[in-house]
Amino acid sequence: MSDTVLVVGAGPTGLSAAAGVASVGKKVILVEKENVLGGAPILSGYAKLVPSGEWAKDAIGRMVKRVEGDSNITIHKGTKVTKVEGDAGNFNVTLSNGTTVNVGAVILGTGFTHFDSINKPEWGFGTFEDVLTTTQMEQMVATGKITCPSDGRVPERVAILLCVGSRDRQIGREWCSKICCTVSTNLAMEIKELSPTTDVFIYYMDIRTFGLYEDKFYWKSQEEFKTKFVKARIAEVTKSPDGRLLVKGEDTLVKRPIIIPMDIVVHAVGMDPNEDNPEISKTFGVGLEKHGFLERGEHYTSTFSSTRRGVYVGGSALGPDDIDTCISHGLAMAMRAVGDLNAMVQKAA
Ligand SMILES: Cc1cc2nc3c(=O)[nH]c(=O)nc-3n(C[C@H](O)[C@H](O)[C@H](O)COP(=O)(O)OP(=O)(O)OC[C@H]3O[C@@H](n4cnc5c(N)ncnc54)[C@H](O)[C@@H]3O)c2cc1C
Ligand code: SF4
Repeated sequence: MSDTVLVVGAGPTGLSAAAGVASVGKKVILVEKENVLGGAPILSGYAKLVPSGEWAKDAIGRMVKRVEGDSNITIHKGTKVTKVEGDAGNFNVTLSNGTTVNVGAVILGTGFTHFDSINKPEWGFGTFEDVLTTTQMEQMVATGKITCPSDGRVPERVAILLCVGSRDRQIGREWCSKICCTVSTNLAMEIKELSPTTDVFIYYMDIRTFGLYEDKFYWKSQEEFKTKFVKARIAEVTKSPDGRLLVKGEDTLVKRPIIIPMDIVVHAVGMDPNEDNPEISKTFGVGLEKHGFLERGEHYTSTFSSTRRGVYVGGSALGPDDIDTCISHGLAMAMRAVGDLNAMVQKAA
């Protein structure tokens, strides 16, 4: 029997889980496949986070620092789990760096993969230099200057296309990625702040700035920053003879074809299941739900259980979610893992 907890993935979910377990004096082994901790906000260079407005490198950087400075936490970077044997309370785990560890519980915070816009070729990504993803645009915002990648000019018009790789049955992505409406309205404001002469257009099917984000992002972006919202179905992004991008589609409010010239087009990419999930499912012996995210065990009394006893799953590994929610999942998994281990120890005594 071991009361050490293995946490896999060092994004917001895993960092929160590791800090939670360590805060009650238990040992944690934290395994991250990349050589950098922090998950998507750090690995993809997000700019200012919603809803706090804090730079990702500062906010998530604090979470990383807390874990790196905790003597109860041993960190293995650039490492994956290759084998998990045993049962709840006593798992023997082999890591790709040759280490073996004995742990009582496993927490999976293995997250998601950004949708690859190459899978939506008719919208110009990979063909035109000035068609970018939200993560690339956030990286541009972080430089403090908004310019067209192709020739360095200040854009007159930027279009942000929502739901790229989400809510799209044709390419097998039926889910809503939950956070991209809010992220995009925030991005529109950031672009306008840095480049006041640029007009920003958001092309949408529906706006889903959930909960308290409605007035803070959607209305503010429209009323204070003059973002133009166009309810449309996009057919394609092409180039005009004068070199500008053309966003072609149908305005679904007035039911008319629209073609508007743009200088930069941004794909608001969605959240796909982690590309490692088939491997994670096999290695950890946990199920996948129908879209390929990790499967929950039971919702209401064994919250955050996976389909294998002693293995917990939360955060965006379960489906698209925002950072605040993922941090709560991490803490809740820490509570579940420690509580279940304590109950096992008491039973054994
Ligand atoms: C464009 C975009 C912008 C966003 N901006 C915001 C925002 O401003 N505010 C907000 O609240 N949310 C935002 N989000 C959502 C945010 O990215 C997620 O909520 C958050 O990253 C999820 O954290 P996570 O730890 O569950 O997963 P991740 O951040 O994906 O972290 C998972 C970690 O696990 C590691 N990992 C994966 N597989 C393995 C493996 N097999 N072995 C070991 N390690 C592994 C990964 O390398 C990674 O470090 C945005 C999302 C997108 C797509
Ligand atoms: S949050 Fe908005 S942009 Fe993202 S998938 Fe849902 S509706 Fe589309």
